[in-house]
Amino acid sequence: MHSTHSLDGNNSIAELCEQAVTLGLTHIAVTDHVEWPPNGHHQRPDFDRYFDEIAAARARFAGQGLTVLSGLELGNPHEHRAEAEDLLARYDFDIVIGSIHWLDGENIHYTRCFDGQDPYAVYGRYFAQMAELARTVPCTFVAHFDRIFWPGTQRFGPPDVTYMEGPLREALDAMAEHGRVLELNTRFLTHEPSWNDSLLTVLRWYRAAGGTAVAVNSDAHRIAEMGRHRAIGAGLVAAAGCVPYRWQAESVPA
Ligand SMILES: [Zn+2]
Repeated sequence: MHSTHSLDGNNSIAELCEQAVTLGLTHIAVTDHVEWPPNGHHQRPDFDRYFDEIAAARARFAGQGLTVLSGLELGNPHEHRAEAEDLLARYDFDIVIGSIHWLDGENIHYTRCFDGQDPYAVYGRYFAQMAELARTVPCTFVAHFDRIFWPGTQRFGPPDVTYMEGPLREALDAMAEHGRVLELNTRFLTHEPSWNDSLLTVLRWYRAAGGTAVAVNSDAHRIAEMGRHRAIGAGLVAAAGCVPYRWQAESVPA
């Protein structure tokens, strides 16, 4: 989840911890954004201050049964490998998330990334980037593979994943081969029109590629979103023959 160390985060690390205890969660990971947007305005937390707050939260909440994991979410780190590797070498993160947020200079959160293009060509390039990320960046998870389905669905209706099977399975193969855990982001699981059937197909392809663990992730940017739709996500993971990811120390692959 994201704290106020991200531009789009709404709650402090301490507030996230308080809500985790209220919800009965045993582990949370605070994974704030590191971005290299095409406009050149590099975004990253002040990680010295971030780790001070993580240490304070660990001390305060350990007695309440909460493990607070450190982490970060790297946007398109395969395009900024030297900076990303430098950051990962400098700090001891428990969880490293790799994401595709940018495609051909466009932000994939907005429908304009499809302007003038065949949507399946855009999806194909998105998953080709995801494969490259999985192959080259030492991340624990590859995040929200369906993030681009939201603007795509807004514009064209829910996608048919069989039309992007080649590049999508290449990305899943790369994750399985390099030990990256597939994340099932729970943000869109109750959106209409639904693409949950497509998510199940993708999870089954990941299982067929040799992937087993799936990180069911709320991607909360505020406390009200913590733990959202966990049961639906867990149901999809089980239906695909996968198991929910459980964090262990030293779990970031090389
Ligand atoms: Zn993201």
